[in-house]
Amino acid sequence: MEFGTMDITAIRSGLAAKEFSAREVAEQSLARIDAVDGTVNAFLEVTPEAALAKADEVDAAIAAGAFDTLGPLAGVPVAFKDNMNLVGTHTTCASRMLENYVSPYTATCVQRAIDAGALPLGKLNMDEFAFGSTTESSAFGTTKNPWDTSRVPGGSSGGSAAAVAAGMATVTLGSDTGGSIRQPGSFCGVVAVKPTYGVVSRYGVVAFGSSLDQVGPFARSVRDAALTLNAISGRDERDCTSQDVTIDFTRGLDAGVAGMKIGIVPEFMDAAGLTSEVKHAIEDAADKLRAMGAEIVEVDLPHVRAAISAYYVIAPCEAFSNLSRFDSVRYGYCDPGHKSLAGQYEASRAKGFGPEARRRIMLGSYLLSAGVYDTYYYPAQQVRTLITQDYERAYETVDCILAPVAPQTAFAFGQISDPATMYATDLYTISINIAGNGGMSVPVGLGEDSHMPVGAQLIAPAFHDMNMLRVAAALETAYGTARVAPDFADVKAGA
Ligand code: GLN
Repeated sequence: MEFGTMDITAIRSGLAAKEFSAREVAEQSLARIDAVDGTVNAFLEVTPEAALAKADEVDAAIAAGAFDTLGPLAGVPVAFKDNMNLVGTHTTCASRMLENYVSPYTATCVQRAIDAGALPLGKLNMDEFAFGSTTESSAFGTTKNPWDTSRVPGGSSGGSAAAVAAGMATVTLGSDTGGSIRQPGSFCGVVAVKPTYGVVSRYGVVAFGSSLDQVGPFARSVRDAALTLNAISGRDERDCTSQDVTIDFTRGLDAGVAGMKIGIVPEFMDAAGLTSEVKHAIEDAADKLRAMGAEIVEVDLPHVRAAISAYYVIAPCEAFSNLSRFDSVRYGYCDPGHKSLAGQYEASRAKGFGPEARRRIMLGSYLLSAGVYDTYYYPAQQVRTLITQDYERAYETVDCILAPVAPQTAFAFGQISDPATMYATDLYTISINIAGNGGMSVPVGLGEDSHMPVGAQLIAPAFHDMNMLRVAAALETAYGTARVAPDFADVKAGA
């Protein structure tokens, strides 16, 4: 059995029919990580004891004839971005600052996945504190894109995307503040969903931009992503922004797109920097949706071009205040031998945070300072309202919007080193976090020039995430479900 290529439904039916046990699934997944992750570096920590213990629990339930009582992720190998707490594991956020931090509790999203039967394989690499688009800012080495190991997997949830693309996990969780689920999903050719803000609890997920952060799944199919959302979503009294969603995210997945209205945004399709191969891939996806009976219409988002400026004000401000807790006393790396607390604080933060984290902290502290606040932060919040209204107006005429995820496919390590140039590549994902609605990436084949995966982004009105999942499922019938990257498809676990 190659569990690395199976979907949730196949694993469940195999377990129900006793073709294999959950222990076998766990053992083989761990062996596959051993065989593959030396090259990919998606995992920062592997948790064999936790995976095997959970597998035995699932097997015991099956042996007792209680398969039907098991949750939707029973026996499914799942791994978590390293900004999510899982009790007893390191939660480092890929930062020296938290290198030795061991979680004393478990994040709600992680707990819900495990309660639903998931086998926890471990913790995944990311950009430091989720600042970035490539996973290059991890303090523990970059993750490689399984489709071409000379290229970045995207970021900041690069480990989460690469683990699924290399067949090491069936499902992973990531977080998205400005694109960090969708963009690595696109770069690694897997399904990647950022649901509406509030669908998944942020409790126990290390905060970056609290008004923007949202957790979501990476998976091999749209159905697997929807099943995972069913398991992890819903109100959590420990996160006051979490919502009482009782949505069945699988609803309507097979309904097709006939009669749906799907928007295309000229500002997006004509943006400078959009490569012709990505543009063609999105146009091809639009053609396929039209052929399946959807109506494609143009919609305007007049303020969306201000999204990057607004985000790179709001996000650093929120990051600056969230990161103040890493003060060498309550949390984080402590540089020894200083006479004063101020000296210890300064040196610990200077050494514990990498360059991008320090840049964001300095930016946030400047932007929030007296005198400057009114010039940047306040207008950024006004722009936020205008962008939210743009989307609301668009959804008066369309059910869903189709857009690129990123202007280009995965690029080479080190190819973009200027921060402002890097920030500019977020133009397609960021406005969705600003407005708070749902967005996802679904694979639509390989770019004609780079031969790397291209994702199409589908964007849905707040709490109508089913609209985008339904359109994505239709595209999946045309392009196929996500494949394990060719170089890793034939790696045999334990070989
Ligand atoms: N690339 C964006 C940034 O660097 C988004 C990151 C994210 O979504 N966590 O802020």
